[in-house]
Amino acid sequence: MSIFEQNLDRRPANHVPLSPVSFLTRAARIYPNRVAVIHGERRFTYAAFLERSRRLASALARAGVGKGDTVAIMAPNTPQMLEAHYAVPMLGAVLCSINIRLDAEAIGFILRHSEAKVVLTDTEFASVMGPAVADIPILVVDIDDAGGTWIGAVEYESFLEGGDPGHPVLLPDDEWQAIGLNYTSGTTGNPKGVVVHHRGAYLNACANALTFGLSPQSVYLWTLPMFHCNGWTYTWAVTLAGGTHVCLRRVEPALIFSAIAEHGVTHMCGAPVVLSMLIHAPSSVRRAFDQTVKIATGGAAPPSTVITQMEAMGFAVTHLYGLTESYGPSTVCLWQPGLDDLPIAEKSAFMARQGVNTPMLEEAAVLNPATMQKMPADGATMGELMLRGNTVMKGYLKNPAATEEAFAGGWFHTGDLAVMHPDGYVEIKDRAKDIIISGGENISSLEVEEVIYKHPSVMEAAVVARPDEKWGETPQAFVTLKPGAAEVTEAEIIAWCRQHLAHYKCPRFVTFGPLPKTSTGKIQKFDLRERARAG
Ligand code: ADP
Repeated sequence: MSIFEQNLDRRPANHVPLSPVSFLTRAARIYPNRVAVIHGERRFTYAAFLERSRRLASALARAGVGKGDTVAIMAPNTPQMLEAHYAVPMLGAVLCSINIRLDAEAIGFILRHSEAKVVLTDTEFASVMGPAVADIPILVVDIDDAGGTWIGAVEYESFLEGGDPGHPVLLPDDEWQAIGLNYTSGTTGNPKGVVVHHRGAYLNACANALTFGLSPQSVYLWTLPMFHCNGWTYTWAVTLAGGTHVCLRRVEPALIFSAIAEHGVTHMCGAPVVLSMLIHAPSSVRRAFDQTVKIATGGAAPPSTVITQMEAMGFAVTHLYGLTESYGPSTVCLWQPGLDDLPIAEKSAFMARQGVNTPMLEEAAVLNPATMQKMPADGATMGELMLRGNTVMKGYLKNPAATEEAFAGGWFHTGDLAVMHPDGYVEIKDRAKDIIISGGENISSLEVEEVIYKHPSVMEAAVVARPDEKWGETPQAFVTLKPGAAEVTEAEIIAWCRQHLAHYKCPRFVTFGPLPKTSTGKIQKFDLRERARAG
């Protein structure tokens, strides 16, 4: 036995399970009177945030919730959502945040599959939650944040009043214990329940705070849904930094601009469509602001023109990539010396890459899924982006087959097709299911979209495969024009693409109109594919 293995044991003094619950107890001790949460006219200090979380933990414990139990929540970005992110893990229980756009049937599936004992539900969703819980034995707690019908046994504030503000704050016995259960959108079939643990949540929050430069002075605006991978773990990262959370029930440009101006927002996140929404907001809702606002975008590939326009409006864009399975962000397009000297278009093209692994992820690589060998870093050879490290999920709940498949060969398979550039930066070309194969050639839908976005009249674009007798598949574009833009014809969009792309990559059909989106602002390509298939 090595000398270093003798009488140098782990003990409570030198080994504590990593859990983001610790971030709140620390912030409340150091900054008890600092504003932790802003919600409309309401303000909660860090002391109050902790006290309310302990009351909630106590009330849940009295309702029979304990270690390993599931507590579900369906709410927009409100203080209650933040409190649940600390109260539930404090009990060793698991938080299951439900996508607020789901229908009763999908909610019912999640509540049953997750075996949730309690569901906290904002009254806004009473009409879907009511039927969802009708035949499920579950305690329903109504969150009456904005008025509406109560459907449960108790209202959140009275539930809290019944809780003990001195309830012990427990850390998990083991940091590998589950903290969250997040169902992926599951565009076909039932969604999969992604299980994440305390250690991963702690580390991913650290990585976020570090890469996004959060500090006690940070004012973070909640434009990203907290139900989406726990708000990419910013629910914990902002508290870790001792910054201020600014809640927002609705992602609307007028509300966003006024929050930025009134609260001095310094940081926010959102899918590229949220950025587009701000870029195209009417001047009547825009507000001037003095600070530079850092905005992290991801969830879908941001076209470089969107980055350029945001920078011109006074935002500094950070590009993140990740999945529910990786606690949200797992790669970041990190800045390099010299980039500032590049023209803005080139800088934005660089920023549109997904980048390098975040500090707490061990590795992000582009592999051949058949051989698990790395693809050459030539910026051209496509393979599957794979991840490994401490910020990758535990697996899918009650679905060992899907878990084994996702982890085959020692890596997490993302299902995204990417190239590795010689400088070690990853660039995604498509989701495996979105790539278009025309006459045996791969066409990256993102590459075609990037070109269409550069057309001066275009606000949004999505390109999908349309079945074709001769070529197998051919690209079809769906385009939304800018408000007030001059009429553009199908032929003009096609001609624009032919000027900037190899001809086989150009769409042969263009359809104009609004694009279908998911609640997290992703364009629903499966829906567009069906429309393209229907002709
Ligand atoms: P789902 O959309 O299936 O609910 P996620 O929200 O976990 O699941 O989405 C993860 C997927 O989103 C990734 O696999 C990838 O295809 C896409 N994605 C996320 N961030 C980016 C990005 N920065 N660039 C391109 N694609 C992205």
